[in-house]
Amino acid sequence: MSGGGLLVYSDSNPPKRTLTADGQETKKKKVVVLGSGWGGYSFLSYLNNPNYDVQVVSPRNFFLFTPLLPSVTNGTVEARSIVEPIRGLMRKKGFEYTEAECVKIDASNKKILCRSKDASKDAKEFNMDYDILVVAVGAKPNTFNTPGVEENAHFLKEAEDALKIRQSVINSFERASLPDLTEEERKKILHFVVVGGGPTGVEFSAELHDFLVEDVAKIYPKVQEFTRITLLEAGDHILNMFDKRITAFAEEKFQRDGIDLKTKNMVVGVTADEISTKEIATGKIVSEPYGMVVWSTGIGIRPVIKEFMHQIGQGQRRVLATDEWLRVEGCDSVYALGDTATINQRRVMEDIAAIFSKADKGETGTLNKKEFKSVVKDICQRYPQVELYLKKKKLRNIANLLKSANGDDTKVNIETFKQALSEVDTQMKNLPATAQVASQQGKYLAKCFNKMEKCEKKPEGPLRFRGEGRHRFQPFRYRHFGSFAPDWVSIGHSSQWLWYSVYASKLVSWRTRSLVVSDWVRRFIFGRDSSSI
Ligand code: FAD
Repeated sequence: MSGGGLLVYSDSNPPKRTLTADGQETKKKKVVVLGSGWGGYSFLSYLNNPNYDVQVVSPRNFFLFTPLLPSVTNGTVEARSIVEPIRGLMRKKGFEYTEAECVKIDASNKKILCRSKDASKDAKEFNMDYDILVVAVGAKPNTFNTPGVEENAHFLKEAEDALKIRQSVINSFERASLPDLTEEERKKILHFVVVGGGPTGVEFSAELHDFLVEDVAKIYPKVQEFTRITLLEAGDHILNMFDKRITAFAEEKFQRDGIDLKTKNMVVGVTADEISTKEIATGKIVSEPYGMVVWSTGIGIRPVIKEFMHQIGQGQRRVLATDEWLRVEGCDSVYALGDTATINQRRVMEDIAAIFSKADKGETGTLNKKEFKSVVKDICQRYPQVELYLKKKKLRNIANLLKSANGDDTKVNIETFKQALSEVDTQMKNLPATAQVASQQGKYLAKCFNKMEKCEKKPEGPLRFRGEGRHRFQPFRYRHFGSFAPDWVSIGHSSQWLWYSVYASKLVSWRTRSLVVSDWVRRFIFGRDSSSI
């Protein structure tokens, strides 16, 4: 079948077979993994079950170590140093890889439609069956439909983006160094605007500033005085997901470094020459000329996932919802992890209510202290996230809240309890879209798959509240190991090397580790490469 210049093939991979203990031949279950990022790569690295025929589909034939992506934009590290080719892992594990993008998930027929990466008219489309689908396609940059952003701004999400930014920065300096330009023209070309005061925008601004101070001063001394970095943020502060001290430190440092930080300013449009912002307090719109804009205001859902959500009755949601076992709600045999999905917290609350009323026997809506303790134990078993924060001495906060709400801590009311949980709990909010979460989810899911057969027979999870028996597995438990905070948040350059070694230890292979370390050494000795190739 063919259509619109695209050739469509049916699934060309016949199912693989395996031998059971008694010598019988059985068909292996086909696990299709979408994505080779933090979630997908981690899943594949830990997956070790010979009963699965694993097929990976991703338009990117490498894993990308995103925390060092901002360092690629100024040439501190090379793009090749922070990527790990996927083929090596495929060979080692005996998995198959197809360089393509999934364009449609047909959950009712357990099929996906893929398109080869080739953007030309020779692009191929083909179907692929699955028994189990693991969706780890990440997210796309969110423009909030701001006019002109797609056309005029750079994003910083992929290795190619970082390389384009690097070229664009160097080209800006070369253009600004041309003869016969007015001062205004040079100022415009060298006005770098970063939109979004989250970790990526902040880190990029800091990397750009380092480049201007450490290298541009030597390479382009004549135009250095015309450079300006503006960081625009719609909220009151930058890095508002971090501790207030980090925010304050970053804001002060930017002020010292001469980075023009404009908070409470929302971008309303970007043309080829100007960026327009609205001052939130006054509603006043101001337009400024710029040379280059980097857009980093968070992430949005990929079109393939949006369409899939409509199909399975999740059309009203913002993000694809899973349960705590990472199973996508509303369909069978599909798991989702990383930035593309979130664990549905509404169900968590419903289940807590169910546990509560079970203990309460549905009569009074209140429990005594002993009953309350057993309820908390049940909830903790089912919801490790809750346990995690109860352990952080938040239990005392709950007790206090209950006491103040009830005036009596011997009886606990379900509504007050639910309210108390939502007030004090940070762990139960949606998990952040970070590499830490995605890689832990990948590891968790692989470990579940590794013991699938054993746990089918002997479940290890907590009792179900909907339906009988036990769950096969323990639910996913996120462990926060601190933030990969921007390296410059560490106090100055002396401790920068400490961050560097932390990054180096997190890089996935000895090959990438040695490449990154040699990039750092090269930069230390020779400075950054300022060529625009
Ligand atoms: P990704 O890692 O984005 O992987 C998605 C994969 O799916 C890719 O291989 C992609 O090619 C593939 N894909 C896309 N579409 C399709 C499709 N249709 N079909 C098949 N495959 C598809 N997090 C931290 O914890 N610490 C940090 O310091 C940090 N720094 C960051 C810096 C930058 C510049 C950026 C952009 C992100 C940073 N993050 C950081 C966030 C972190 O990178 C993400 O949370 C993480 O990548 C999410 O992992 P994922 O597997 O969900 O998605």
